[in-house]
Amino acid sequence: MTNRPRLEDMQRADFPMGGEPLAALDLADTLMLAAQPPVDLMDSPAASATWWALQASRLPEGPTPSLEATRTLRAAIRDVFDAHLAGRPPQDTSVEDINAAAATVPTSPRMVRSQTGTTMQTRWHTEQGGNAALAAVARETIELFASPARLATLRRCANPSCSMLFLAANKRRTWCAANVCGNRVRVARHYERTRGANSNPQITTDERHTQG
Ligand SMILES: [Zn+2]
Repeated sequence: MTNRPRLEDMQRADFPMGGEPLAALDLADTLMLAAQPPVDLMDSPAASATWWALQASRLPEGPTPSLEATRTLRAAIRDVFDAHLAGRPPQDTSVEDINAAAATVPTSPRMVRSQTGTTMQTRWHTEQGGNAALAAVARETIELFASPARLATLRRCANPSCSMLFLAANKRRTWCAANVCGNRVRVARHYERTRGANSNPQITTDERHTQG
């Protein structure tokens, strides 16, 4: 559950930011709030499923969360992060939504014996119908706020027209990703082009030119 996705793999799937230490941060960064108009990268069940698949290596196994549940948790996480950075209190409902998502899947420690020794694993109890991936992302958020030193590294990209959040393990890090804020316009255009192509199987104007 510690294998974070690689930024290049996230970008290949049209998510400009990703691969942060917490899936909760990657989730918050699927909403490009500073873009005009704001861009929601979770704009379809397919996009949401792709994002969860990219995060799967660091989350407990289980069914892919629905788009609606994903967006609800994301809104709550985005609010508590943004509120912290702005020095204001978050919405009560945001805290409640995060706690509710975490509470739907209790965990228990598990002793696992192997030839090389004994390790501890976490068992996620989905018997009551909760979604383990959502619960894990909610839990990450709670744990971040319980760790003042780590929380102090939470930052918003220094580009005023970028809303991406990240943990600055290196204190000098001020940008989300070099190839995002360096080529923001290009990324946005790429996003528009590829999303347009995905939702409409007809050939694009550019392709028409090259084929004509
Ligand atoms: Zn940025």
